[in-house]
Amino acid sequence: MHTQFSWDAPRGDMEATCRRAVQIGLPAIAFTEHADHVQGVFDDLRPLDVAAYCGEIERCRGLFPGLRVLSGVELGEPHRFPAESAAVLAAAQVDRVLGSVHCFEWAGRLIDASQLDALPARDAPAAMRAYLGESLELVRSAQPFEVLAHLDYPKRYWPHDELAYRDEDYEEEIRAVLRGAAARGSALELNTTRGAEPSRGLCPGAVVLGWWVEEGGRALSTGSDAHSPEMIAMGFELASRLAEAAGFRPNDDPAGYWLR
Ligand SMILES: [Zn+2]
Repeated sequence: MHTQFSWDAPRGDMEATCRRAVQIGLPAIAFTEHADHVQGVFDDLRPLDVAAYCGEIERCRGLFPGLRVLSGVELGEPHRFPAESAAVLAAAQVDRVLGSVHCFEWAGRLIDASQLDALPARDAPAAMRAYLGESLELVRSAQPFEVLAHLDYPKRYWPHDELAYRDEDYEEEIRAVLRGAAARGSALELNTTRGAEPSRGLCPGAVVLGWWVEEGGRALSTGSDAHSPEMIAMGFELASRLAEAAGFRPNDDPAGYWLR
């Protein structure tokens, strides 16, 4: 999840999040702050302040000794920004690295999947394929990340009222990304999008979890993707039901599942 150190989380608060985690009985929490470098897409993008972030992690570990606090980063499109991403990792020495795609090429420029709702609904399938193509570049790159984040992120912004989203329409493209992720030994994130309605917020859903197993995937990592304290662990009940139905069982890694 994210805190005030992520550029898009103005309501983030690491200390309050740890307090909430203890309150609801979580044994551990992982903070995976955004490290994004794409230019010209977001107005409010700012670089991760690695030193301040690491300082706050240490302070919170001291304040909440009973909570296991993992540090982390979510590298946005690191295959496009290898030098910038390497600099963040060299400075931060974090416990957990997520690799993610938010932005992909559309009509000759980069757009974020959240801008999907500004496109005509008929363009959504092609945009989804462009997104998955970008994800394939990511998993085939040599970028060092352990968890592939929100595999089908555009679903959050899909024009569901006008056009049904079906995993099967993108099976070939999704399976290619899953094969690449399995080949590099990555875990697949089961992102619950802070408990949003499952067709929009469960990234990915049950069908794709089945494909993950078939393509050689062995590990899952659940994440609420919360950007404020009250949203942590939202949707985890549903996620654990899906994970277990797909043959995964919890391990002792925070939010981790291995194939049975
Ligand atoms: Zn993300």
